[in-house]
Amino acid sequence: MPELPEVEVICRGIRPHLLDRTVTAIHASGKELRRPIPLDRLRREMLLRPITFVDRRAKYLQIGVEGGARLIIHLGMTGNLGFFAPNSQAAKHDHLRWTLDNNSELRYNDSRRFGSIIMCSSHEIADLETSVFQTTGPEPFSDQFSAEYLQRLAKGKEVPVKVFIMNTRVVAGIGNIYAGESLFRAGILPTRKVRTLSGKEWLKLVTAIREILEEAIACGGSTISNFLNAHQEKGYFQVHFMVYGRRGEPCPTCRTTIENLRLGGRASYFCPRCQR
Ligand SMILES: [Zn+2]
Repeated sequence: MPELPEVEVICRGIRPHLLDRTVTAIHASGKELRRPIPLDRLRREMLLRPITFVDRRAKYLQIGVEGGARLIIHLGMTGNLGFFAPNSQAAKHDHLRWTLDNNSELRYNDSRRFGSIIMCSSHEIADLETSVFQTTGPEPFSDQFSAEYLQRLAKGKEVPVKVFIMNTRVVAGIGNIYAGESLFRAGILPTRKVRTLSGKEWLKLVTAIREILEEAIACGGSTISNFLNAHQEKGYFQVHFMVYGRRGEPCPTCRTTIENLRLGGRASYFCPRCQR
C-alpha cells in the first residue's frame, strides 16, 4: 500500500509536468473505483483551467485549478499516477487519463480499484478540513506535530504507543512499517502505554518519525528524474528496514534477537533490549 513517502514522491514527480498546464480531455475506463469516478464533474471543474498547484495532504494528492476547484486522489491499495508521452499505449488498469495541452497524459492506474477520485468545487474546498480531512490529524512535518502536542493528547490514555501514532486522527499518514521503524530509532517499545512516555521520549519519537519519513522520501527521490512512465516500473521504492520483517534476526545495533507481536491487528517488530 502506498504510504506517505510514496505519495510525496509521486507528488514531487508529477508536479513539474502539471503546473501551469491545462487539461484538454479526460477519459475513464468505465470501471468503478471505491466509489464511481465522477467523470462529468471532473470535466466540468477541470477542463481548460490552468493547474495552479499540486500537493499532498496525508496520503491524498491534491491538484488545484484556476478558479479554486480541486481534484483529490487517494491511491487506495494499488493506485499509482504516472506521466506519459503523447500517444503512448495505455496500460491495463489505467482507469483515468488526463490529456494535457501538450498532449502528454497523466494516468491513474489501479489494479485492485480501492482508490478514490474526489472532485471538489471552489465552494467545497473551504470545508475540506471538516469534510474529506475531518478525521486527519496534523502533517508530521508541520509545527503542530510536536512533543507537547503528543503529550497533551496522550494524557491519561492507556493506548500502546504504536497504535497511537498509527491513528490518523493523531498524526497524518504514519503506516505500520514507518511506525515500527520510528519506535526502534527512538528506543521506545511499541507496547508502551502512551500516558507513561516522558516529554523527552515524545521529542525523540517526533524526531525519529520525521527522519525516517525524510529518508524514505529521499530514497524514492532518485525515481523522480526519470518519472516519465514511472508507473510501468513495478512497485514502490524500498527503504532499508532495521526491524520490520526481521523476526529472529539479530538487532543491527546490539545483536539481540528481534521479536514480534501483534498490536492493533498489525505485526510489530522490536528489539527487546534497545527499546524500553
Ligand atoms: Zn537492539
